[in-house]
Amino acid sequence: MRLILLGAPGAGKGTQAEILSRLLNVPTISTGNILRAAMKNGTPVGLQAKAYVESGKLVPDDVIIGIIEERLQEDDCKNGYVLDGFPRTLAQAKALSGFAKIDGALSIEVSDSEIEHRMEGRRICSKCQATYHVEDNPPKVEGICDKCGGQLVIRKDDIHDVVENRLHIYHEETEPVKEYYRQEGLLLAVRGQKKLADTTQLVFDALGISL
Ligand code: ADP
Ligand code: ZN
Repeated sequence: MRLILLGAPGAGKGTQAEILSRLLNVPTISTGNILRAAMKNGTPVGLQAKAYVESGKLVPDDVIIGIIEERLQEDDCKNGYVLDGFPRTLAQAKALSGFAKIDGALSIEVSDSEIEHRMEGRRICSKCQATYHVEDNPPKVEGICDKCGGQLVIRKDDIHDVVENRLHIYHEETEPVKEYYRQEGLLLAVRGQKKLADTTQLVFDALGISL
């Protein structure tokens, strides 16, 4: 299955993508994680992306489209993938249609005020990038990743003003992507719930997955 996850920043795309990926036995391709790894390693793409990512702006379309087009050609994508964070603009969606046949686009719908609450409490593992929330999905030991023991940190772009900026860009640039997939007959939508597992259940229902 070749699946796209759509939703505002902080809607829980990443978490649901990982769950689906494990279940369907396909990789999650997360543009945010790819860019953060590139930044950490100081690659040319990372250096190019840094200023955009840290201020909450979108990385230019040609950069991100190139990354995804290459990534989807790798062996592990043969049986499908879950795209998390791409496409985020109409231009990206159209480009994707040129090199991939998508089976569905699942949108996780969350209000702006809920997004703000989530982002302020979000923590990310500095080693393996797993995400947590101080109230809604806390690690077993405060500040420490359950999965790898890494230090949990606040992403620079989860700071309040940057969050506002990202939400604004989401409404302007990414909502048209939803419309694009609606017109293609590929859009599925679920309302994001407070509890992770409740959202997961709705996602499974929407995709016709029963466990
Ligand atoms: P979130 O979904 O929480 O906004 P991501 O980890 O998906 O966070 O993305 C973090 C940042 O990486 C974005 O704010 C943006 O700067 C950049 N980015 C990620 N995906 C894309 C994309 N498809 N197009 C342009 N920029 C992107
Ligand atoms: Zn970790």
